Amino acid sequence: MNKYADIIVDISHSKLDKVFQYHVPDNLTQKIVIGTVVNIPFGKGNKNLKGYVIGFTDKPNFDVDKIKDITGVASMNMSIEAHLIKLAVWMKERYACTIISALRTLVPINKKVNEKTQKEIIRIIDTDELKSYIKMWDSKNYKALSRASNHLLTCERCKQSAIIKKADVSPTVLLNLEKKGIIKINSERIYREPYNVNNIRRSKNKLPNMEQQIVINKVLSNLNKESQVHLIHGITGSGKTEVYMQIIDKVLEKGQQAIVLIPEIALTPQTVRNFISRFGNQVGVMHSKLSAGEKYDGWRRARDGDISIMIGPRSAVFTPFKNLGMIIIDEEHEMSYKSEVSPKYHAREVAIKRGEMTGAHVVLGSATPSLESYYLAKDGKYTLLELKEKAASTNKLDVRVIDMREELINGNKSIFSDTLRNEIQSKLFNKEQIILFLNRRGYSRFISCRQCGYVIKCDSCDIPYTYHAFGDKLICHYCGKTISMVSKCPSCNSKYIKQFGIGTEKVESYVKKEFPTARVLRMDLDTTTRKKSYDTILGKFRNGEADILIGTQMVAKGHDFPDVTLVGVIAADLSLYMSDFRASERTFQLLTQVTGRAGRSNLQGTAIIQSYTPEHYSIAKSKEQDYIGFYEAEIQYRQVMKYPPFSNLLVLLIQSTNEKELIRRSYELKNDILLVAPRLGLEVIGPSPANVSKIKNNYRRVILLRSIGYKELMQFINRYMERLSIKYKDISIQMDINPLISY
Ligand code: ADP
Ligand code: ZN
Ligand code: ZN
Repeated sequence: MNKYADIIVDISHSKLDKVFQYHVPDNLTQKIVIGTVVNIPFGKGNKNLKGYVIGFTDKPNFDVDKIKDITGVASMNMSIEAHLIKLAVWMKERYACTIISALRTLVPINKKVNEKTQKEIIRIIDTDELKSYIKMWDSKNYKALSRASNHLLTCERCKQSAIIKKADVSPTVLLNLEKKGIIKINSERIYREPYNVNNIRRSKNKLPNMEQQIVINKVLSNLNKESQVHLIHGITGSGKTEVYMQIIDKVLEKGQQAIVLIPEIALTPQTVRNFISRFGNQVGVMHSKLSAGEKYDGWRRARDGDISIMIGPRSAVFTPFKNLGMIIIDEEHEMSYKSEVSPKYHAREVAIKRGEMTGAHVVLGSATPSLESYYLAKDGKYTLLELKEKAASTNKLDVRVIDMREELINGNKSIFSDTLRNEIQSKLFNKEQIILFLNRRGYSRFISCRQCGYVIKCDSCDIPYTYHAFGDKLICHYCGKTISMVSKCPSCNSKYIKQFGIGTEKVESYVKKEFPTARVLRMDLDTTTRKKSYDTILGKFRNGEADILIGTQMVAKGHDFPDVTLVGVIAADLSLYMSDFRASERTFQLLTQVTGRAGRSNLQGTAIIQSYTPEHYSIAKSKEQDYIGFYEAEIQYRQVMKYPPFSNLLVLLIQSTNEKELIRRSYELKNDILLVAPRLGLEVIGPSPANVSKIKNNYRRVILLRSIGYKELMQFINRYMERLSIKYKDISIQMDINPLISY
């Protein structure tokens, strides 16, 4: 019998990150299984805490007399599938996090929410009897009882909320009616639903084209085999969503469930709508902007088998389906699949692991797969599938690259090349839509003094302020600090302050100047602070309420705007010279994505990429729309430079408010690491100032450890990091394994 339970206490403290044992009282043996969340007395004061049951034993490792009893099952029924508990244990190993932080990521909420119920009123007497009651109440002037009963004359069953509103009565009146035997009040559990499924028109499967059919068949033929990873490399517009939906159709037919991961819900409302219109109320949606109640309900519905498909960002990979058959990861190259807080997991890795544990299959899809995934696919580790044609259009996208250096030589100092300007004009004339893309918000990149060269920076961060014409402000994009625009140089007092570089706000003002009749929308972080603003801007553009949409990478994502025939990239080089070994990959991905917004219907699409370095392979290959060509150039660079996928990286980010101490201690730390790391075959690089060497008054340095194998990196962490963190607790050390961001 399960007499003792192994329990992880729900408390964040690295010292307590171990298994505690509790006795299972007889009356609870039936109710507690692996994954149940229980209440336990903890510590000397027997503080009432929550704990996760992760296993059972007959013979405890402690003195039986000292073992305490589990008090009960936690009030909200939050129990976790046993295989997900195993997944959390794997995450602890893989990402060097605490087990409790891994367990907590499995449940979407951590505080108590109330289950929502709906009450229904059922009249249990006939009309005549009710009428005599009403007569009596009218004579006694019991107005509320009379109003409620009159309402009941028109309906034998109605929602309590409806009768309260329409008859203007309080719930006590209804309780009174129930006591008198006139009605019965039924309580029913209901789920909060973030989307109104009934408002979305239902759609049927499309007839797949030949390529789509081949991909669908291949995946389906693997369904009865052991878990496999498939990578669909499909150009933008090749109809990957349709492929996903037809695969899921069959998964559901087998009585299994499916998870669909998408990078960011707010930016892809269309994907959600597509799925709901195909699968109706079998679909649940999870995202960060939902209320705690909506999250909890979505999670419960999945666990209780009330839905079969969950769509959401990376955390949806933990959806507690009992018989999971398929995990689909759309735009698998996106950075948002890696968590930036502990556990710093990658949803793709977790999905593949969960697949291995449960037999579920994984489908990755992208027009520009990550180098890591494509490498594994070419290596035969993943099944590589391709979609090379557009599904709904026969037009080839016409991509042109404009060398902005030549424009300058020819005397064009504007942000628009002649070609782009002419194209904008002609599309406006034809009443077609245009997207202009620039990956920087604000008005200008930085402002500096022309007399002494002083650049005005945020005093808490080592970052130049960005000028925002709206409000005439300077904003730090790292800490958000905002000051008013200066009129004099803070350093030499000269009046010659100049703005350098451009942002989306400036693009907007130029567009308005050069094309005064065009209707313009702008979408970036500054215009989308409110909850619904994405939907509003995207909706307006879709409805043709604007001719030009200007934006940052928010406009680059998977939107399907059929009337867009021109995409202009104002400055393609912006992302190219970041100090990040992934800069070329990011640039290629971004250019492919954003240019893919043009020509999605039967109208011919044109994309114009303005660049100061058109010869760079990221730009040249995106002109040819040649992912494989890009991959071959980039993979060589990675191999020569020993970057992933040819190595694994561990970043140690070291921070302190004292710059001198930070420098001294970071060298000491490096020397300590050098005593042990080379034995494990690890290369140690740094310490060097982080990309942004100061944020919010914290100075930042980075030590990079590089290893060919993942295992050696983990050995280093497991053997030495705890000791090092204690020795260097005066400077904070954060770890990130194989980060996607550059520190
Ligand atoms: P991707 O995600 O690969 O970029 P989408 O899934 O957005 O492409 O598909 C592009 C367009 O093609 C959509 O409007 C979609 O409805 C349409 N489409 C997809 N498959 C088919 C098909 N078999 N027949 C007709 N239209 C299709
Ligand atoms: Zn100056
Ligand atoms: Zn700042």
